[in-house]
Amino acid sequence: MRPQANADSGELYECFNCGARTEQLQAAGCPECGGQVRNIASERDL
Ligand SMILES: [Zn+2]
Repeated sequence: MRPQANADSGELYECFNCGARTEQLQAAGCPECGGQVRNIASERDL
């Protein structure tokens, strides 16, 4: 289940290249450097 009503618990992406974080996934990747971003909100450290 995904709580769509709660905006604050949405996605969080971090750039592999520069470490910039964004809550919205850009089609072009990182808004700062254009690098690849990963979703850190849905991934947890093992
Ligand atoms: Zn970047």
